[in-house]
Amino acid sequence: MNYAVPAAPVTHLEIVGSTDVFPVNRIFCVGRNYAAHAREMGKDPERDPPFFFMKPANAAVQAGQSESRIPYPPMTANFHHEIELVVAIGRGGKDITVDDALSHVYGYAVGLDMTRRDLQLDAREKGRPWEFGKSFRDSAPIGPIHPVASVGQVTGGAIALTVNGHARQHSDVKELIWSVAESIAYLSQYEPLEPGDIIMTGTPEGVAAVVRGDLMEGSVEGLGTIRVRVAD
Ligand code: MN
Repeated sequence: MNYAVPAAPVTHLEIVGSTDVFPVNRIFCVGRNYAAHAREMGKDPERDPPFFFMKPANAAVQAGQSESRIPYPPMTANFHHEIELVVAIGRGGKDITVDDALSHVYGYAVGLDMTRRDLQLDAREKGRPWEFGKSFRDSAPIGPIHPVASVGQVTGGAIALTVNGHARQHSDVKELIWSVAESIAYLSQYEPLEPGDIIMTGTPEGVAAVVRGDLMEGSVEGLGTIRVRVAD
């Protein structure tokens, strides 16, 4: 069999302690999953059912302890950082129960849900999809994946982001409105999960813009730090 046009390469992420890499399938993102962030976005942080949006696999870009770069994307004047706990799915399934959900997790990482906020809010106001605000190449810098086998499950711990050394976002993963297990269970009712799927679990308060040249340093306790510079 020959592909009629070049096939897209498989996006992959490094795995801590392994020479294997993690193949990125789909990227699901939870919206407004910390109460203080829901409030800063002008929404009531009721415990409504979670909602999801997606990014393409090529949104994922390897980040890590040593500085990496992402381009400043086109068509925005308000490019926002969202530091998030990232879940890498190792085993697929549908209608997964909350009790069984964490057994589907391969590992965890630190990630950024980079957002063209002006385009997202414009779409929100018009009742249109968020794609142009959220779903674009290199919009999800993600650190190396820490396997559950080495670090255990991540159910709490500090999550933080600085820009040029100044604090911007700080919270605790315990503050998630919908836990990792609940998000997996809920999502799997709507769409069977597959190995390689990524779930970005939502950002805490303090989202704000970055400009060309800014250095973002994001961390989740136990999962290290990623350093990502917005290219000039
Ligand atoms: Mn987000």
